[in-house]
Amino acid sequence: AKAAGRNTIRFFNPQMESMVTMRVAMESELRTAVDRKEFTVHYQPQVDTHKGVYGIEALVRWQHPQRGLVSPADFIPIAEETGLILPIGDAVLETACQQLREWSELPCYGDLSISVNVSAHQFRNPAFVDRVSALVNRHAVKPDRLKLELTESLLLENVEEAVAKMNQLKAHGVDFSLDDFGTGYSSLAYLKRLPLEQLKIDRSFVHDVLTDANDAAIIRTIIALGNSLGLDVIAEGVETEAQRDFLVANGCSCYQGYLYSRPLAIEQLSMLLQF
Ligand code: C2E
Ligand code: CA
Ligand code: CA
Ligand code: CA
Repeated sequence: AKAAGRNTIRFFNPQMESMVTMRVAMESELRTAVDRKEFTVHYQPQVDTHKGVYGIEALVRWQHPQRGLVSPADFIPIAEETGLILPIGDAVLETACQQLREWSELPCYGDLSISVNVSAHQFRNPAFVDRVSALVNRHAVKPDRLKLELTESLLLENVEEAVAKMNQLKAHGVDFSLDDFGTGYSSLAYLKRLPLEQLKIDRSFVHDVLTDANDAAIIRTIIALGNSLGLDVIAEGVETEAQRDFLVANGCSCYQGYLYSRPLAIEQLSMLLQF
């Protein structure tokens, strides 16, 4: 922090400025970033231990001209509050659909799917269904190839409305995954009413699965629940072979995490998968 010039603005160093100043500055920089299209997408493979890579999660990054790559954890909350998540989310979806089209032309990766995170503000927007279906049509996305990751809190805001929106998008071939599963106020009653394809076990449970008996029990329960509801189950944040082996031994063969690969820029992903 000392070497940098006095007039360097540092949003991410709370000692230097008040939270309010940081927030205001970040908001105005985010607006500029939307105009300048400074957002880029990184890709993390999703692996099936039997079949290999079958999907990719799209994760947004802010390519800041001075600060370099900014993590979504730093800017998504403010983008949510200010509504800037709408143009940012559109850009991510657009990039994902373009990428799907390119993959669909590759002989060995023609059936790769892509997962895109959707935040509450986006999903709540009355134009959401139209925006997504327009993109799916424009890029001729095949059924089941685009998966939207939604969270429990977002769906519980208004279950009726959520189910209606999801069904409209399902009619366009879009699939749904319930992200960060187990971290919110899960209600088993609503779970069976949601048109989901997949449950995603949150990485907080995976992290200590080998040392914490409660986390192990929670993971076993989520896998059993997914299986009995006919849903695919994937675990995120798998970093070690031992964690993966636990999952496989308990009936979950799909995972993503640093063990297989970190999120990668498209060029690196292409090298990894040998496109
Ligand atoms: P998430 O959806 O739970 O995404 C998984 C996060 O875990 C990613 O962080 C990923 O890089 C990280 N991760 C993957 N494997 C491992 C691992 O083995 N160990 C550990 N410790 N971490 C792992 P990232 O990319 O920083 O994204 C953070 C969050 O930001 C995401 O959490 C998601 O909620 C949000 N986000 C990312 N991209 C978007 C987007 O395009 N739109 C919206 N609305 N939210 C996004
Ligand atoms: Ca996710
Ligand atoms: Ca399907
Ligand atoms: Ca998560």
